[in-house]
Amino acid sequence: MRNVLLLGGTTEASALAALLAAGGVAATLSYAGRTQSPRPQPVPVRIGGFGGIGGLAGYLREHRITHLVDGTHPFAATMSTNAIAAARLAGVAHIALTRPAWVPTEEDRWSRVADIAGAVAALTVPPRRILLALGRMHVDAFVAQPQHRYLLRFVDVPDQPPPLPHYSLIVDRGPFTVDGDVAVLRDHAIDLVVCKNAGGSGAEAKLIAARRLGVPVLMIDRPAMPERHQMCDPAAVLDWLLHDTSAERGV
Ligand code: NAP
Repeated sequence: MRNVLLLGGTTEASALAALLAAGGVAATLSYAGRTQSPRPQPVPVRIGGFGGIGGLAGYLREHRITHLVDGTHPFAATMSTNAIAAARLAGVAHIALTRPAWVPTEEDRWSRVADIAGAVAALTVPPRRILLALGRMHVDAFVAQPQHRYLLRFVDVPDQPPPLPHYSLIVDRGPFTVDGDVAVLRDHAIDLVVCKNAGGSGAEAKLIAARRLGVPVLMIDRPAMPERHQMCDPAAVLDWLLHDTSAERGV
């Protein structure tokens, strides 16, 4: 019998959880525990880290998992790298459910940097009004560029106020609309958007809004990932899960 562990925290993972529940496939959805009140799910949920590669491999064995689906965010590189190694150790089939990266159109004004440090370095410029659309995890790094006024958008109210000298905070978990994000950029007179190349439709509204208003974007490229089996469509992953027999064959 198939028994799936789905590493979540994304819209696509939630969509696959719904498909698994509807298809009667045994599955557990795993959250890191970063948000205070994750959306209710139609499959059992577990929350918290596994304790690295060894911890995850132990979990896979103990819970007799046959298939590990990595549906984490494209920037969750540690978890994704651990998932590949742990699946190999435990002899469990592995697949990543991911999303294609965004590509700029001719109307976009993107500059690209490799990582957060690159984004911080690129902001060594006179004061700007910046939509820092990175979630709350990397905000502290931008203390190194205190001259800017930052607009932050978080899913939850933070426990500690962000350490930036000039900021405004919007608490909203989306989904965001293009009209809504055009209004946000206009209301706050934003003249630069800083974001990660997450891909997908859920977070794309700010890019379309920036395009419409001619606002430049500082785009942080995805971290490199080891070679892995991956698909972009939850329905295709379900189909693969229903037909894959590699774990049963001990491949
Ligand atoms: P990360 O840096 O790759 O992972 C750090 C550690 O968090 C992992 O080593 C693992 O701990 C634990 N972890 C991460 N995802 C987990 C999951 N789904 N279930 C159980 N443990 C998990 O990850 P991150 O960038 O902090 O992202 C954490 C979560 O937020 C992920 O679920 C991701 O999908 C979601 N998310 C991330 C971003 C982003 O921009 N990075 C954006 C939206 C959503 P152990 O080593 O102890 O197992």
